[in-house]
Amino acid sequence: MGRKHSNRAYGFEIKEAAVKNAIRVFREIAEQINGRKVVMIFDYDGTLSEIRKSPEEAVMQPDTQALLYNFTKMCGYKIIILSGRARNNVKKMVGLNGITYIGNHGFDALGDIRVPALSRAYMKLLSAILRDLKKNLKHINGIRIEAKKYSVSFHYRNVARGSENKAADAFRNITGPYVKAKKINILKGKKVLEVMPPIKWGKGETVKQIVKSNRGAENPAFMYFGDDVTDENAFQALKGKGFSFFVGNSARTKADYFLRSPKEVNKFLRKLLYYVRCE
Ligand SMILES: [Mg+2]
Repeated sequence: MGRKHSNRAYGFEIKEAAVKNAIRVFREIAEQINGRKVVMIFDYDGTLSEIRKSPEEAVMQPDTQALLYNFTKMCGYKIIILSGRARNNVKKMVGLNGITYIGNHGFDALGDIRVPALSRAYMKLLSAILRDLKKNLKHINGIRIEAKKYSVSFHYRNVARGSENKAADAFRNITGPYVKAKKINILKGKKVLEVMPPIKWGKGETVKQIVKSNRGAENPAFMYFGDDVTDENAFQALKGKGFSFFVGNSARTKADYFLRSPKEVNKFLRKLLYYVRCE
């Protein structure tokens, strides 16, 4: 990683110096990965697919799906998708077998990945909050309330510009007392607020689990791709242990590299697929 610049006047160039574009330094990355086992972890929305008006519309380009498919068939490669969506939902969006899907920011996983237990009291409260949100916020045009089994998402992407704060305030009025009482956590993403369990757990802890359960003797290369604030803990968890890629244009990321868009993620994966060898 390049050195941090304190002079803000440099603007965009600082960004380029601090976090490297993964396409530009492709060989530097590929050479460190070639011939090793690789564990690739992807966020979904904004990383593999463009963000759309509604979650159902956020489908991947068909060639991104084909690239992922090829990686699932590549020897020594393990593909994991770690999303804020419900596990079954993200699995449906990606539509491929041979991938490990983890939903709800790490609260919804199968197999050898540890997941914190959720109390019956939390599940009951979550249903009550869901009912409350639906009942009291339905008058706000453009909001969408999504039940995701272990969490509830409040999407306000399609709310009229001037009403976004009003919508977020209405959400906080309902959820605020439970946050104060430490019965829930609120997670903020891109135009979405999520009611989550009151447990310090998320993509960062989940990535630590993935590293632990895959480390073994073979020293695999871990790669993580994500675009949102919720992915920053995952970048942090991989510091010095793998390769992290922020998707988007921002100087404020803990990732080692950046890719400008899901299109550039696609381009990077294509280059990697042609470069790496199956041992
Ligand atoms: Mg995302």
